[in-house]
Amino acid sequence: MIIRKRIWPRTIGDWLSMIFVLTIVPLIYWFGLWIVLPELYQDQTLPYAVHFVLGNFIMLNIVGNFTYTVLCDTSIGRSVVPVSTAKVTDGWRLCAICECLSPPRSWHCNTCGVCILKRDHHCVFTGCCIGYHNHRYFIMFLWYLFVGAAYAFCYSNFFIWSRIPFEFPMSIVKMVFPVAIFFLGFDNSTDQFYLLLYVVSVVGTLYTGVLCFYHFNLVFKGVVANESNKKDFTYAVGWKNNIREVLGERWYLTWLVPYIKSQLPHDGVSWRNLCSKKE
Ligand SMILES: [Zn+2]
Ligand SMILES: [Zn+2]
Repeated sequence: MIIRKRIWPRTIGDWLSMIFVLTIVPLIYWFGLWIVLPELYQDQTLPYAVHFVLGNFIMLNIVGNFTYTVLCDTSIGRSVVPVSTAKVTDGWRLCAICECLSPPRSWHCNTCGVCILKRDHHCVFTGCCIGYHNHRYFIMFLWYLFVGAAYAFCYSNFFIWSRIPFEFPMSIVKMVFPVAIFFLGFDNSTDQFYLLLYVVSVVGTLYTGVLCFYHFNLVFKGVVANESNKKDFTYAVGWKNNIREVLGERWYLTWLVPYIKSQLPHDGVSWRNLCSKKE
């Protein structure tokens, strides 16, 4: 893996989104494993141990895949072909900003300031583009965010509603505006803070669930966001190979941990072979 040179976000929006994720994920983790879990199960019992291990496994995958997504350089970088020595053929395009020829499926990102191999989109939460080399990590990061949020939501349900009495209409107000209620001092009790984290886990489950559905669908179809909008399925090679194109040859192991190597089928630069494989 080639490490990206400038790993920090470049816009205020990216910074705020990244800080939000880096704050809320550890908070939900702490709430789930250190507050909710001891309340539901006695420690040193099997259910406690199972949930503790599972919670840490999910957290390891969120942190690991986030780190790999951010660190992995997926720009055209070393594959740059100077304009003077190449011909614009086979879908190669001239990028006026990078002043070089860009491979098929790559696009220039104005925020990252570089052309990205098989560019899917610019992710504000990681502050970088999702392209050929970090697509796998992004997909797994998203998946484990969803699993973690759904898991936290299910368990904190038992915790919250056994602890906080439901009072109409105040409970509704506290759930709809949890941040304002807590930070503006209307109710800055510990229970309101727990309720805030519970609401975040509900919204997080819905939001990441929709994103998972959208991005998994693109992977199965063998397209990136831009190609999907244009209904361009030139590089789709059947759902199994489409998955390999993103998760690599050992796709069935990539859900375990991000450190497992899974070689991508090619270099993300020359796509002619993929087209001929299809024919
Ligand atoms: Zn460019
Ligand atoms: Zn970008």
